[in-house]
Amino acid sequence: MKIAENKVVSMHYTLKDENGTVLDSSEGRDPLAYIQGSGQIIPGLENKLTDKVVGDKLNVVVAPEDAYGTRKEELQQVVPKENFRGDEELVAGMTVQVETNEGVAIAVVSKIEDENVTLDLNHPLADKTLHFDVEVTDVREATKEELEHGHVHGKGGVEH
Ligand code: ZN
Repeated sequence: MKIAENKVVSMHYTLKDENGTVLDSSEGRDPLAYIQGSGQIIPGLENKLTDKVVGDKLNVVVAPEDAYGTRKEELQQVVPKENFRGDEELVAGMTVQVETNEGVAIAVVSKIEDENVTLDLNHPLADKTLHFDVEVTDVREATKEELEHGHVHGKGGVEH
């Protein structure tokens, strides 16, 4: 069966940056399962998986525009240092949870000054060209229920 719209695809993957550093991998876990065409994985990878079958191995290079986008200056925010009253000492490079209009987000502390802290709300993978090594391990029809829920049930998906 070929990968096409509304097929459930299971795959093992390793994600590396341009220097070959491993950023994420399914090694030691169940394969990742997703519904093709549902936007659950980044578009640059989803497109390349079309028509592939079980056992196919791919090496996919995805430009930032087709992955997590480019960095945006407006996502740098300066906030008063007094907003951070946790026990943990602030260090540049650490991640903190912040509340935004769209809920809780993860930000990286990019600069610390006497009064202010600069937070970077860009996705950590923004601006990065991503290298995926992918092996397709299963392709099947999505069930009606899975299509209604918009996610895969069972191994590698949602258990409920
Ligand atoms: Zn569900």
